Amino acid sequence: MRKKIVAGNWKMNLNLEEGQKLTSEIVNMLKDENVSDVTVVLNPPFVHLYTVKKLIGDTPNLFLGSQNCSDKASGAFTGEISAGMLASFGAQFVILGHSERREYFKESNQLLTEKTKQALANGLTPIFCCGEPLEIREAGTHEAYVKQQLTESLFGFSPEELSKIVIAYEPIWAIGTGKTASSDQAQEMHAALRSHLASKYGQAIADNISILYGGSANPGNAKELFSKPDVDGGLIGGASLKSRDFVEIVKSF
Ligand code: 13P
Repeated sequence: MRKKIVAGNWKMNLNLEEGQKLTSEIVNMLKDENVSDVTVVLNPPFVHLYTVKKLIGDTPNLFLGSQNCSDKASGAFTGEISAGMLASFGAQFVILGHSERREYFKESNQLLTEKTKQALANGLTPIFCCGEPLEIREAGTHEAYVKQQLTESLFGFSPEELSKIVIAYEPIWAIGTGKTASSDQAQEMHAALRSHLASKYGQAIADNISILYGGSANPGNAKELFSKPDVDGGLIGGASLKSRDFVEIVKSF
């Protein structure tokens, strides 16, 4: 049985006080909910990791993640944060290859292989993002485009390594636009990605990999999205900044 996961990506939002407030509210709300079968992850900016981890404490099923890590283990890389540092702060997940990092920071599929190696070497679960821009969707070549992202970044990993990775499908045209993919569009892509993973690693491994959907997910559409057989949860941007919305999404399975 693959894991159901809801991960909040705060992106570059919230100051310390706001981050504390959001985390405390989520911790308190989750205590009253019966969501023990959902893995919930908070991915704040680096500077909030320590504080958020302390507030999470021993809340069941609630984990700390980061939004990025370096492709290097350590050294003279001013401004970078290593996967080992993140692990030492109690992070268990790391978002890699978000489209904003691919676009604004020119992260390539090859660089993302190195980041994924660092994450795995330090015991972090990569939440590996993929997704197509609007023009590729309109040209009808979206499946090939996204499959290639996975092939180029991940298909050098061993079956054992690959089975530790979570995939997040985030169509770029749906991110922060209020224009979510339909649940059928999400299902179609998730099924295509799973069969692509199966073609290289076998059905048993592919069946155990969680594939999350991201892009304008909210309490109003999460239930429909999560009802699809290959949609194993969500990577949530804007709605993860509001405790009630985020917890409603967690309850949407
Ligand atoms: P929104 O939920 O704000 O569209 O962002 C999605 C996303 O990019 C999560 O990583």
